[in-house]
Amino acid sequence: MITRMSHLFLRTLRDDPADAEVPSHKLLVRAGYVRRVAPGVYSWLPLGLRVLRRVEQVVREEMNAIGAQEIALPALLPREPYETTNRWTEYGDSLFRLHDRKGGDYLLGPTHEEMFALTVKGEYNSYKDFPVTLYQIQTKYRDEERPRAGILRGREFVMKDSYSFDLTDEGLAQSYRAHRDAYERIFARLGVEYVIVSATSGAMGGSASEEFLAVSEVGEDTYVRSTESGYAANVEAVTTVAPAPISFDGLPDAKVHDTPETPTIASLVDWANSALGRTVTAADTLKNVMGKVREPGGEWQLLAIGVPGDRDVDTKRLEAALEPAEYALLDDADFAANPFLVKGYIGPKALLARGVRYLVDPRVVDGTSWITGADEPGRHVVGLVAGRDFTPDGTIEAAEVREGDPSPDGKGTLVAARGIEIGHVFQLGRKYTDAFEVDVLGENGKPVRPTMGSYGVGVSRLVAVIAEQHHDDKGLRWPSEVTPFDVHVVVANKDDAARGGAETIAAELDASGLEVLFDDRKASPGVKFKDSELLGVPAVVVVGRGWADGNVELRDRFSGENREIPAADAVAEILGATAR
Ligand code: ATP
Ligand code: MG
Repeated sequence: MITRMSHLFLRTLRDDPADAEVPSHKLLVRAGYVRRVAPGVYSWLPLGLRVLRRVEQVVREEMNAIGAQEIALPALLPREPYETTNRWTEYGDSLFRLHDRKGGDYLLGPTHEEMFALTVKGEYNSYKDFPVTLYQIQTKYRDEERPRAGILRGREFVMKDSYSFDLTDEGLAQSYRAHRDAYERIFARLGVEYVIVSATSGAMGGSASEEFLAVSEVGEDTYVRSTESGYAANVEAVTTVAPAPISFDGLPDAKVHDTPETPTIASLVDWANSALGRTVTAADTLKNVMGKVREPGGEWQLLAIGVPGDRDVDTKRLEAALEPAEYALLDDADFAANPFLVKGYIGPKALLARGVRYLVDPRVVDGTSWITGADEPGRHVVGLVAGRDFTPDGTIEAAEVREGDPSPDGKGTLVAARGIEIGHVFQLGRKYTDAFEVDVLGENGKPVRPTMGSYGVGVSRLVAVIAEQHHDDKGLRWPSEVTPFDVHVVVANKDDAARGGAETIAAELDASGLEVLFDDRKASPGVKFKDSELLGVPAVVVVGRGWADGNVELRDRFSGENREIPAADAVAEILGATAR
């Protein structure tokens, strides 16, 4: 088809939108791809919709190729299934909730594990029906706390979500692998540079969950990777390399010292360096951070976390380690209710004596010796040895991960980078089939319960991610798989013969099966060139001054290369360059 810019529903903007910070957001708005309606809620205009549809198509093809079947569930959902799994409560403020005229509770689906489990339960009842994988490409709703960067983090967004149902763990592992491979093909076709990071520590078994992160400075996810191996992980999933335990033999006894005015690690280190006659660093101190945890539906309980004093507690890591329990810092009332907690001087002794749950960083192995609080104002204990003088209730991955830390796979050290989550593969197991008692008749006549995987791709987010990875200061530069048009023909010559020639070229490109954008407007060449750079169609044919000599200009927006060629060769050249 030929789309004429004289008719196209499009207004490009000269200036960046006031609320835009990241390049993709600025450019997608300026180039007239999307328009904001409310925070995190956007309209798709013709060009944007074309790119979105093309991304969807790539995802759809790769899903179909692994045997997944497309269905479409409603976005408007009743409360009950989400009540059954407790997600009606767990989702908290992130869920859009509404009432119907009879007062019934509804929600706008944020993700559909419940509905897919119920759908399979409704249709299938024998082992012979399995395995099965279903998916949809659908609008999702999440009342994000911080919608951001246009369509990058929306409150309404398009996701491909698929769900696999297998009867065995090996089957699930296979379905997971098929999705992971399909995702690699999807992101390669879309021209996205990405890494795969493990999203869980592996406590649930190997590759239970992995995320695909698009490499981007503006990403909200920090991940780390090894300088020497393929190891990459979400910061939440990094496991600390613990040193080997040390023998207690010959370790001096613990001794309590008066350490006036040393409520901070820095002041304590200063004291130790002058009082102990040896070099002491913050890493020699054990900092005990007080908080409280609450299991779902339970009561708040005190929790103390011991980390080497040179490291902060990373709240995201801590929360991930405690999930599904909730975590909060202690307030003044909590300290008042527990007077044995001496702020600035909290030590393992009082915690353990009072039965406070005490978890330590994995570096606190048996035989390590620490300077830590002595539970009295202005006093610390020196030489307190783990395993000899105190025994914590366990370890926790709560300390911050730093560049230079050893890689958990033993190869190289960690460096940090930023990414945007574009996909997530997850071996769910039987959480949802248990909740809804999805049982089918097994081969031996006994009921079996299918195990599930869930797999998401951020389809609308990908439009922004691709724009983020492929643009320059002049505008967008779409990879050929997702460009809204294959070729952009620009008439930059008022001459009737030139216009006629451009019409002919556009018609021939169209006849060859390409999607053609034809700038037939009565605007100046300057305006047209600016727009063509902004819109970002990779192949541009300019019918301009050279027409008098029988030439047109080919501009490759992706490589930046421009060259003058005989007009007669234009169609063949473009066809060669845009092999679709
Ligand atoms: P995030 O950590 O970015 O909030 P998530 O882990 O909550 O994402 P999932 O539930 O795994 O997201 O959803 C699957 C995919 O949907 C994500 O990998 C992401 O690409 C996309 N996605 C999630 N939330 C949004 C959003 N608010 N706007 C656009 N895409 C989103
Ligand atoms: Mg995720």
